[in-house]
Amino acid sequence: MNEKSSSLTHLKCSKCGKEYDSKELQNLCSCGKVLFAEYDIEKAKETISLASIKNRRYDIWRFHEIMPVLEDKHRFTLGEGWTPLVKIPNLGEKLELNNLYVKDEGLNPTGSFKSRGLCAAVSKAYELGVREFVIPTAGNAGAALSAYAARTQTKAHVFMPKDTPEFIVTEIKSLGAKMYLVDGLITDAGKIAKEEAAKHQWFDVSTLKEPYRAEGKKTMGLELAEQFDWELPDVIIYPTGGGTGIIGMWKAFDELEELGLITSKRPKMISVQSTGCSPIVKAFHEGKDQAEFWEDAETIAAGLRVPAAVADYLILKILRESNGTAISVDDLTIKISMFQLAREEGIMLSPEAAATIAALDLLKEKGQIQSDENIVVFGTGSGFTTPEVWEKE
Ligand SMILES: *Cc1c(COP(=O)(O)O)cnc(C)c1O
Repeated sequence: MNEKSSSLTHLKCSKCGKEYDSKELQNLCSCGKVLFAEYDIEKAKETISLASIKNRRYDIWRFHEIMPVLEDKHRFTLGEGWTPLVKIPNLGEKLELNNLYVKDEGLNPTGSFKSRGLCAAVSKAYELGVREFVIPTAGNAGAALSAYAARTQTKAHVFMPKDTPEFIVTEIKSLGAKMYLVDGLITDAGKIAKEEAAKHQWFDVSTLKEPYRAEGKKTMGLELAEQFDWELPDVIIYPTGGGTGIIGMWKAFDELEELGLITSKRPKMISVQSTGCSPIVKAFHEGKDQAEFWEDAETIAAGLRVPAAVADYLILKILRESNGTAISVDDLTIKISMFQLAREEGIMLSPEAAATIAALDLLKEKGQIQSDENIVVFGTGSGFTTPEVWEKE
């Protein structure tokens, strides 16, 4: 058997269970819901073991058996993934949290964890023949797509709100993508992107509207398991927009258990949103299975300004299954947390990422996190992507 094989078998709808051929390009299921990549885990088991992965590449292709790309030459990389898990003891001491960690995703190419998802999606679509992409974005996903489009010498069309953080706009332009500024939010950009995709036969890589960005994000879960020596942490706190990371990591944990690498123990999954846009938090506390559209969304955390998420039903299900929760924090607290983390731990995170730090006090007060638990906050983006927020302290 080819040592570098993938055990991808087909795609399956996360809602109705309908199956699709993974040798063809797919977006959503005909029922409008999210498609997942399915693997032959028994086959993957033949080559995945603690010993066999030891000397492998440190990027998102480390567990290539449970990643979707079939041929090694299509596993593109800019060095995404394998970000450090950094203990933050100073802040931990203040909050009486003895085992507090940041997974520092700001060290990824283009400064955010979006590079994991777009690396996987672009690589797989390239393998299936795509040479022109379109994406609606709050900023970081557009930057990541632009970088992988440059790497693969394909074309990227990026639609984003005209008030996207300035540096990210510059970044996308510099990476050579075609950029379109939209009067509205990411949901408005999404509508235009969809029309343009149909008109020009561009491939739409919107969050969870194709199956493979979630596979890229899944690698955060694989890495956490390995970094914690195959026993998952007690709590994962995640700044939630479209929810790809929560969904991807949850899928990773199931696959790792099936592979025999971890037990059935799962972390509590906690979503953090901004009070200016918190549809998931609202739906969670109202006991709903789906979220309502959030009107007049506004927050300095651009990546959390997602008034409607296509995978809301999956995010809510995972939060409940994991015995987790959802919480919102205001922009001022987010900003204070950015500076606090910078000054007390030496890490500059973006507003989205700092929202997780901002939530710690309240979560502790409510008894949702405990002093001796292993707690991981997701530092999803680098503070360098939003210079204007630091300048206006
Ligand atoms: C996109 C983004 C998020 C939200 O991620 P989802 O997986 O869409 O929920 C959080 N932080 C940053 C920095 C982002 O760019």
